Amino acid sequence: MNQFMTLLICLIGMPMIGFLVYTSLERFMSRLNDKEEIKSELNRLNQLAECSSCGRLSRTYQRELARYDLLFNRGVLHKTELSCPHCKKESDFLPITVNLSFHDTHLDCLSLQKSEYTEFKKQREQYEELLYLSKVDKSFKNKIQQTESDC
Ligand SMILES: [Zn+2]
Repeated sequence: MNQFMTLLICLIGMPMIGFLVYTSLERFMSRLNDKEEIKSELNRLNQLAECSSCGRLSRTYQRELARYDLLFNRGVLHKTELSCPHCKKESDFLPITVNLSFHDTHLDCLSLQKSEYTEFKKQREQYEELLYLSKVDKSFKNKIQQTESDC
């Protein structure tokens, strides 16, 4: 009887332990992956570049925000390239690879911190949603105008 119980416990217990170890390992790995992803995304967003129009420095996340700003303020919803947050122009950006100490403290190009990343991501999603909605709205209006002119 005792042997039977031990066998039963082993039969049920072993796969359960295996399963638990597997899921916790998987969770741990995906958390590591997320961390890596955030790190590389932060690196991309903090890429420093010089505006070819005004010569001021900015980071990718600032240029992305400036792009949305331009898209909504101009009311033109075609694809706008990244824009300069300082002169509000679409221009070429020369990447800065040398990191000087004043770069991190200069008001023109404050880097995006890890703690601000979620907020930035949320804002970007909101902008994308707004952009999508206004695109849908625009195509809907165009369609109405078309059917009106057809009549
Ligand atoms: Zn500029």
